[in-house]
Amino acid sequence: MKTSNLLLATQRENPSDAETISHQLMIKAGLIRKVASGVYNWLPLGIKVLRNVENIVRQEMNDSGAQEVLMPMVQPSELWKETGRWQQYGKELLIFEDRHDREFCLGPTHEEVITDLCRNEIRSHRQLPITFYQIQTKFRDEIRPRFGVMRSREFIMKDAYSFDLSEDEMNDSYQSMREAYIKIFDSLGLDYRIVKADSGAIGGSDSEEFHVLANSGEDLLAFSDKSNYAINAELLIESMSDQNPESLEGQDSPDGKGKLRLKRGIEVGHIFKLGKKYSESMKLTIQTEKGNIHPEMGCYGIGISRIVAAAIEQNHDEKGIIWPKEISPYGTALIEINPKSDTKLKTQCSEIYNSLKENGHEVLWDDRDQSAGVKFSDMELIGIPQMIIIGEKSFKEGKVEIKIRGEDKITLLNLDEVINKTL
Ligand code: ATP
Ligand code: MG
Repeated sequence: MKTSNLLLATQRENPSDAETISHQLMIKAGLIRKVASGVYNWLPLGIKVLRNVENIVRQEMNDSGAQEVLMPMVQPSELWKETGRWQQYGKELLIFEDRHDREFCLGPTHEEVITDLCRNEIRSHRQLPITFYQIQTKFRDEIRPRFGVMRSREFIMKDAYSFDLSEDEMNDSYQSMREAYIKIFDSLGLDYRIVKADSGAIGGSDSEEFHVLANSGEDLLAFSDKSNYAINAELLIESMSDQNPESLEGQDSPDGKGKLRLKRGIEVGHIFKLGKKYSESMKLTIQTEKGNIHPEMGCYGIGISRIVAAAIEQNHDEKGIIWPKEISPYGTALIEINPKSDTKLKTQCSEIYNSLKENGHEVLWDDRDQSAGVKFSDMELIGIPQMIIIGEKSFKEGKVEIKIRGEDKITLLNLDEVINKTL
């Protein structure tokens, strides 16, 4: 892609309503724009990052044996009344009526719809275990949308649902999804932790959250300094008489090993053992040799759009974003510094650009008629992991400059080395 053809919507001013660094940088780098409170446009650079995250998640879901489906965003009230959540879910459920006065909601999650799908489609116990997933837009009418896409009302989630014949098998499905999550967050290049969590409005017995560590995180996490014990501190705080997180700073770890240490995190994934909550209330029954049973379910969410913001919280400096390679919108920025519009230099840029592309690299060629300063600061702001700089002086010597984002050092390379060396 050439910047002359790209909607590069960078801006220098800090948006007045952005409190967190990721929110500020997502606006300044031209990744997102607000349409309404908690509702955003994704611009060309932003959607590329979002798709990269999505693809990593999709690949691991497919590898784990889960099958992709796509369920509707609009859900009929009847299904939610069967589980009782039409009343219980509260004000985050955005409800409306169609022209025939039928009630609907915008899906904040899809347990009802998937359980309905399974009770209609699963014919035999031989089809179990089975896990479905989708990558789809959710709507939750959050009381205080904030921090851009970190806590928005409309957001993209990967949600998966497993169905098993016994609790043991459900534990296996849960474990295999947990392993897939570990691969996903490793591939995303993020520093994360898994903690024991509360099941909230989704319900079920056991659950764990995946948190990207960041000082701006909304969640307080507690870790033992002597064991693997890790928990969302809200679970401990609920049971404390003073309910004061401060009194957790050095307390004994509940597993009896070591003292508690606190860190802040951004919840990017949540996995639940649901048991029979939905299969019983919605009468999903499967015939087996031992009679009819209600399957054991699990459900597994990943906040795809929140991950983009979380990755920025963890990877930035005063100049802007520093994308982990795996999710960067482009791997390389080709910067042409050509104040005299030298056609030879332009041809050389074009050759490098084409050969990098032919070798499968995602390159953003900054071919604008702008000063070197503007180009550097834009490419640094949008966080491209490496720059190839083609300037008059080095070009005359048959060389180009390579600069890695986040490092000060500039390396000189021979023109013909560029393609092999840089990537
Ligand atoms: P939170 O505690 O942050 O409100 P949750 O526990 O209600 O989230 P889940 O129901 O577990 O969320 O949803 C699965 C994942 O979807 C979360 O782990 C999170 O990454 C993402 N998510 C949830 N709510 C939002 C939101 N308002 N904006 C962006 N992502 C969200
Ligand atoms: Mg959660």
